[in-house]
Amino acid sequence: MSLLRKFIDLLYPPRCLLCRAFIASGSLCDTCFSSFKKLVTPVCPICGGPFLNGIQEDHVCEECLRNRPYFDSAASPYMYDGRIMDAIHLFKYQGKPHIAKALGPLLASFAKERLSGLRGLLIMPVPLHPKRLRQRGYNQSLLLARHVAVGMRASLDFMALRRTKDTKVQTGLRRDERRRNVKSAFEVADRRAVRGKNVLLVDDVATTGSTLNECAKALRKARSGNVHCLVLARAPKEAGSRQ
Ligand SMILES: [Zn+2]
Ligand SMILES: [Zn+2]
Repeated sequence: MSLLRKFIDLLYPPRCLLCRAFIASGSLCDTCFSSFKKLVTPVCPICGGPFLNGIQEDHVCEECLRNRPYFDSAASPYMYDGRIMDAIHLFKYQGKPHIAKALGPLLASFAKERLSGLRGLLIMPVPLHPKRLRQRGYNQSLLLARHVAVGMRASLDFMALRRTKDTKVQTGLRRDERRRNVKSAFEVADRRAVRGKNVLLVDDVATTGSTLNECAKALRKARSGNVHCLVLARAPKEAGSRQ
């Protein structure tokens, strides 16, 4: 730590961005970290969606049985709820890209634990449309994906997959609206980069998985290998789509 940094910390001790508690370093405190709700079984082994009631073992959900996604699996360490929701909100919408230093390692260690059996993965973040990227100044999914790539010692590619449609924000849209909103929103600009590669798509939040599915569709069209998805936080499905 530089002398200047030490001096600044003395004048303005770092505080947790969520609860304002004083912390030694970083941007979130241990209490906030440990309040993040883990996503627990039963989940759908394909889309990774949680079941809130019913059968206690993992099983394929009705949605995946009816419309099998283009991706092979999706997994998330956390539920999109409580303080992680606030943290992601600050990270994404309030111009605080440095929160990736706190959230990225959480996702990377989950990936190492859960996905270590998958070999030769190419890590790819869900891309933002260039217009959105200019407005925000950074792609939050790329910031997370960098941590995952380092943690898994895998290569990172954030150029080959592009978002060609400037879609509406998915929040507040119904399942069918979400699907229509992101339909054909992605394309592979560099087919050679993905051909035959097993891809791990990284995103910050997923609700119905429509965005991941459209990315996977574009990758498969470009003859990628298997497509797996890793999402920091999983929002509960809308009422009616739960089993
Ligand atoms: Zn806190
Ligand atoms: Zn499913």
